Amino acid sequence: MRLRNKPWAKDRLESYPQYVVAKPESYKGNWTEVFGNDQPIHIEIGTGKGRFITEMAKANPHINYIGIEVYKSVIVIALDRLIEEDLPNLRLMNVNAVELQNYFAKGDVDQVYLNFSDPWPKTRHEKRRLTYKTFLSIYENILVDNGEIHFKTDNQGLFEFSLRSFSEYGMLLKYVSLDLHNSSYEGNIMTEYEEKFSSKGFRIYRCEVQFQK
Ligand code: SAM
Repeated sequence: MRLRNKPWAKDRLESYPQYVVAKPESYKGNWTEVFGNDQPIHIEIGTGKGRFITEMAKANPHINYIGIEVYKSVIVIALDRLIEEDLPNLRLMNVNAVELQNYFAKGDVDQVYLNFSDPWPKTRHEKRRLTYKTFLSIYENILVDNGEIHFKTDNQGLFEFSLRSFSEYGMLLKYVSLDLHNSSYEGNIMTEYEEKFSSKGFRIYRCEVQFQK
């Protein structure tokens, strides 16, 4: 998601260091300093406008959340939400997922959420998919042992690719739904994309997978 360029977004993000982590590399291995407690940390990669991560943080005050988004023009909308809600257990980071090992040490993160990741449908772009093996390796290197990825998408091709990628990486499939909104899964929190595409009749796919160390 890339919205109209907003030249003012950089200044706005920098004006709220209590919500948008500046210099995240300085907290590698020491995120308790950011949150002031040692609650588990769940991150959403590609958080977009932030609805999912904000609602998760509201519903689960015993968990710390970080929404990670590469585009300033998008994350600035998530910031508006956070300013309004003022949640002590939620932070935002304006970085690219490829850099995550610069900011998190092994075991800093307890769970990864990927919601409606860009599908990059052309085969020559498969390395850009956030479930490609190089990204899985990055996630494994920042997660606790046996950490999990929870993944939702409306894109069947991306879901099939991802299941194969998780399997080839040796991950354990703990949950799968090929039609989340018509399943018995409870407590689903919708993302912006999920609302948009499910209202158009698209099925939502969801899985939970676990690293085996
Ligand atoms: N998760 C949101 C939702 O479900 O409404 C947004 C989905 S949108 C299709 C995907 C988001 O991932 C975009 O905002 C995009 O900028 C972000 N993104 C894509 N690649 C990324 C990367 N390598 N690092 C961080 N964010 C990324």
